[in-house]
Amino acid sequence: MKKIYHHIVFLTGAGFSAESGLATFRGNGGLWNGCKVEDVATKEALANNRNKMFDFYNHLRREAAAAEPNAAHLALAELQKKYPGEVSIITQNLDMLHEKAKSQNVVHIHGQINQFRCLNCNNVQTARGDIFPDMPCPCCGVRGYIRPNIVLFGEPLFFQQQAALLLKSADLFVAAGTSGEIYPAAGFAGEAKENGALTVALNLTIPKNHLCFRTVVLGKAGDNVPKFAEKLLALADIARRRR
Ligand SMILES: [Zn+2]
Repeated sequence: MKKIYHHIVFLTGAGFSAESGLATFRGNGGLWNGCKVEDVATKEALANNRNKMFDFYNHLRREAAAAEPNAAHLALAELQKKYPGEVSIITQNLDMLHEKAKSQNVVHIHGQINQFRCLNCNNVQTARGDIFPDMPCPCCGVRGYIRPNIVLFGEPLFFQQQAALLLKSADLFVAAGTSGEIYPAAGFAGEAKENGALTVALNLTIPKNHLCFRTVVLGKAGDNVPKFAEKLLALADIARRRR
């Protein structure tokens, strides 16, 4: 590892928030009221199963609002504050735990659970509580057009250009708490690597896209991320003292 990186980019995923008690709703056991995220995060559900979809995201919003950042979020916020280079965060998580931990400039490529938008006037609003399919839009007043402001399967990511710019300028890319299954985000490691970044994965299991990483460190985000952040700060400190 280098002593000081000019720009470190973290990509965080469900595993990052798991220790804050937020379930992933994906894969085995990831069920809520018998439904997986694959059943509700679709354009079909938005068109034909709005009640179930809104119920699911209302539940998720309540859980996320009650959750607190864990050691991984706090370590990353601390790293942003103390590191002599730039530290950016791209997250696939809908929760606001990075912000609660006082991280800056978090890029939510899959959207935010605390927002909804109107398909009639395109305005994005903050959801302070549950939202309902027939709710009138607070902006244009038309009913039946609001939806959670999240990226559904098959929809393009939010902030794609911004993410691409970050991946271009990164000299260290760290995927933390993400198993590399969901594209396009799973392609970020390969992109960063092609652009010349050192790529590291910190995850509970070997990520699906493991070939894109120079190093894979297995373990919980709450253990791995603080250790990794400490190492980065220690290396930067050595470099500073040598100057
Ligand atoms: Zn509207």
